[in-house]
Amino acid sequence: MISIKNGDGIRWPEGKRIAVMLTFDFDAELLRHSVIGKKNIGFADRSRGQYGTADGLERCVSMLERLRVPATFFIPGQIFEMYPEAVRKIAALGCEIGYHGYDHDHTVGIPEAQEMENLEKSEKLIQACCGKKPVGARGPLDVLQEYSAELLKKRGYLYDSTLKDCDWPYLLPNGLVELPTDVACDDFSYFYFSYADEATINCSYLPDEVRIFWQDAYDELAAEGDKVFVLKLHPQLIGRVSRIRMLEQFILYMQQSGAWIASCHDVAAYVKAFYEGKEGEAK
Ligand SMILES: [Zn+2]
Repeated sequence: MISIKNGDGIRWPEGKRIAVMLTFDFDAELLRHSVIGKKNIGFADRSRGQYGTADGLERCVSMLERLRVPATFFIPGQIFEMYPEAVRKIAALGCEIGYHGYDHDHTVGIPEAQEMENLEKSEKLIQACCGKKPVGARGPLDVLQEYSAELLKKRGYLYDSTLKDCDWPYLLPNGLVELPTDVACDDFSYFYFSYADEATINCSYLPDEVRIFWQDAYDELAAEGDKVFVLKLHPQLIGRVSRIRMLEQFILYMQQSGAWIASCHDVAAYVKAFYEGKEGEAK
């Protein structure tokens, strides 16, 4: 199959201007593990991640309920074992759940057999929680292995949402749909703070500053017409009070300005059908 990029213009359902996906990487303390290393993680670091399983998640869930918008959660398998109640809450909301590694290991070069084990373990946990196997994946800390696309395809996945090469969805050479993200649309880029790393990382932007970045990008992409806007969020970062309020206002803005807000699964299925139909026409 040839790789098709949508430079020739995908049209969204019902004349919508842009496809928006609200995605939450529900990593709890595994996020801090990944960034500062398992050996360095202390109680306070752990508790920062745990904020995302308590107040942080609570606010995200109530916001999604209030707005009645679909969302996709990418969750490492181990989180299902550590926080069964929290993941049940996400599943009860009817949100899509995607694969995000087992223990959020982002080492480049994990042997394929080990990654296969991670997938098998995590898929069982996801299925037991929400009754469905995942159809989408995102690499932990945005790391994909050389073999990932093939492995996901073999295991029946429909899409990946990790790469950053463009603003439109496309088919990888093996037919897997790619829903690209952008670090500028990731709350980690603005709200992560650490003095435990080699150099202090201090990303403490005002929520309204971030809204300006996001809204500008959204407006421009919506004007181009054939683009996706994938917000990548972490309940432990976006779930703080003033940030969730900003996110809610921003989602309302997108709802009112012609966005198709859908799960990654729904967008990927639409993209695949659109391009495969187009490929058929060309034959
Ligand atoms: Zn993650």
